[in-house]
Amino acid sequence: MTVIVLGGAGYVGSHAVEMLLKKGYDVAVVDNLVTGHRAALPLDVRFYEGDVRDHDFLNNVFAKEKNIEGLMHFCAYSLVGESMEKPTMYFDNNVGGCISILETMQKFDVKHIVFSSTAATFGVPETSPITEMTPQKPINPYGESKLIMEKMMQWQSEATDMTYVALRYFNVAGASSDGHIGEAHKNETHLIPIILQVAQGKREFITIYGNDYKTSDGTCIRDYIDMEDLINAHVKALEYLKAGGKSNQFNLGSSKGYSNLEVLETARKVTGKNIPSILGERRPGDPDELVADSTKANNILNWHAQNDLEHIIENAWNWHKNHPDLYDD
Ligand code: NAD
Repeated sequence: MTVIVLGGAGYVGSHAVEMLLKKGYDVAVVDNLVTGHRAALPLDVRFYEGDVRDHDFLNNVFAKEKNIEGLMHFCAYSLVGESMEKPTMYFDNNVGGCISILETMQKFDVKHIVFSSTAATFGVPETSPITEMTPQKPINPYGESKLIMEKMMQWQSEATDMTYVALRYFNVAGASSDGHIGEAHKNETHLIPIILQVAQGKREFITIYGNDYKTSDGTCIRDYIDMEDLINAHVKALEYLKAGGKSNQFNLGSSKGYSNLEVLETARKVTGKNIPSILGERRPGDPDELVADSTKANNILNWHAQNDLEHIIENAWNWHKNHPDLYDD
C-alpha cells in the first residue's frame, strides 16, 4: 500500500518522505518543483513532476499508483506577504489544487488525506494558547485559502466516505537529524533560517520587528515546532485515519512560546557567532503571542512534541552550515 506525498519536494514534504520511507511505507511523490527541490528526495523514490491542478496529470498518477492507502498534502503557496499582493494566485493554487485532489481521490476511491493547515487560519486570536475551539478569522489570503481548504475537506468528508486530518502548524523549524535535508526556501521569510543566514555571513544583521509588545521582553512570542516532531504527527494522523478515526483538526506546536530575542540568544549559543541585530518598526498584523494548545493532539493522536528550541536550532544549523548553497539547484 502506497502513500502519495503531494508537494513532497518542499521543505516539510521532503522530511515526510524521508520519515515514511524509514518507517517502511511505500512512497510516491508528486511535485511541480515551483518551490521544491528534486535534490531533497532520494534518487530512487517514484517521482511525478507536475501540477496537482492538472486533472489529467493527477489522474494518470493515481492510475499508475494502484494501491493508494492515503495522501499527505503539502503543496501550496505559503508566503503571507506575497498572498497580500497576489491573492488570486494563492486561491488558484491552494484552493484550485485542493479541488483537483479531492475530485481525484473520489474518482479513485482513495479514503484518507492528511493536510497541512496553519496557525494563519486563526488570524489575531483574542486568547492564548490557541485551541481548536478558538475562532478562525484569517487576516491574509494565505490563511483564508487554507481555511477554505479545511472547509472543503470537511464538506467532502460529509458527502463521501473519505476522511481527513487537518494539522494546523505553528512555526515549523529544524532539519533532519542526520543533516542531509533541511530548509531551503528560495524566498526565505522564516526567523530561524534568516538568523542562521546572518551567522553564515550571508546577511549583515537580523531585524527584530518591534520591542513594545505585551510580552516579557517586548518582542513577539511564537511557538516553534521541530520538523521531526511535526512529521511524526503526520504519520500518527495517517494511522489514526486508517484505524477508522473520524475527520479531525489538530493544532500542532510545542505549547511553549519563545520571544524573538530568546530565539536570537539560543542561535548565538548554538552557533557560537555574534549574530548582529537591529530594531525595526512593528509589522502590521503581528500578534503579541501565538502559542498552540496541542492537548487535543496529545489526547487523540498520542502525539507530544519532544524537541525544544535548542535542538531545533542545532539541527537547522547543522544543515545550513554544511549546505551553504542549500540544494545548489
Ligand atoms: P514549500 O514551498 O517548501 O513546499 C511546498 C511544495 O509544494 C513545493 O515543493 C512546491 O514545489 C510544491 N507545490 C506547490 N504548488 C504545487 C502544485 N500546484 N502542484 C504540485 N506541487 C506544488 O513549503 P513548506 O514550508 O514545506 O510548507 C508545506 C506546507 O505546510 C504548505 O502547505 C504550508 O502552507 C504549510 N505550512 C508550513 C509552515 C512552515 O513554517 N513552513 C507553517 C504552517 C503551514
